[in-house]
Amino acid sequence: MGRTLGEGAFAVVKEATEKATGIVRAIKLVDKKNSDKAALEREMNVMRVAGRHRHIVSLVDEFELPNAWALVLELVKGGEVFDRICEGGLYSEADAAGVVLQVARALEHLHGRGIVHRDLKPENLLLVDKSQHSDIKLCDFGLAQFFGEGMPDMVGRTGTIAYMAPEMLAGKAYDEAVDLWALGVILFILLGGYHPFDPQGATPDEEVARRVQRGAWSFEDPAWKPVSSDAKSIILSLLAPDPTKRARVADLLASPWVLGHSASPAPLP
Ligand code: ADP
Ligand code: MG
Repeated sequence: MGRTLGEGAFAVVKEATEKATGIVRAIKLVDKKNSDKAALEREMNVMRVAGRHRHIVSLVDEFELPNAWALVLELVKGGEVFDRICEGGLYSEADAAGVVLQVARALEHLHGRGIVHRDLKPENLLLVDKSQHSDIKLCDFGLAQFFGEGMPDMVGRTGTIAYMAPEMLAGKAYDEAVDLWALGVILFILLGGYHPFDPQGATPDEEVARRVQRGAWSFEDPAWKPVSSDAKSIILSLLAPDPTKRARVADLLASPWVLGHSASPAPLP
């Protein structure tokens, strides 16, 4: 085991080297005191069904320690988008569009397999390397769930308040459109440099929840002056309060702003 790569609410993730091969991985250690076996099984099942994808962290192996369960993951070396935001300030529109494109591709893959992530936020978007146009991989399937035929309706708050969709906060049944709401919040942060419902980062959760449900956000801050109207309309379509009117993954993948600005390199032949 090597250095700590990151910590979340449920786990600590460390670098680790497989002795037999020398391959370096990430190991997510989930404390048995903080989690139950069923939740962990679900996280692993989701990751197995998700399989391998360019924009999704893959599960390599799993084992049990006396005090923790260990998920062996593909190592992602560039740190969190969260830290890049904190260090570097604003993203250019091209870079932000690249993030949207890559997350949309990951969501297309997940939603197509009946998986909703439910915890999209900058902490769970990892950079493959430290370069400006690094690829992104989605991590943390700890709150992900299967949806669709045979699965119960999803209802109740799951995830992080500041990224929860209004229908979830209101206690209504919700679907995979909650991931698109969260992506809208992320895009707002990337281009505006602050959280739409918590500009100072110090608003109590219940007040954030009220603002989300009232739709209390705007582009009035001077930070939005230089931002294109195409970018703003993508944010508006993702932050649509009615989930049936919200932008879908297919809309993003057909959007000239998302595709045209993308810094993502052409796929290899
Ligand atoms: P939690 O469920 O506790 O939020 P995460 O799966 O989000 O746990 O992991 C916590 C943090 O560890 C992430 O935010 C990230 O910084 C880091 N991390 C997670 N998976 C990897 C990985 N495969 N490679 C590198 N860092 C990772
Ligand atoms: Mg996390």
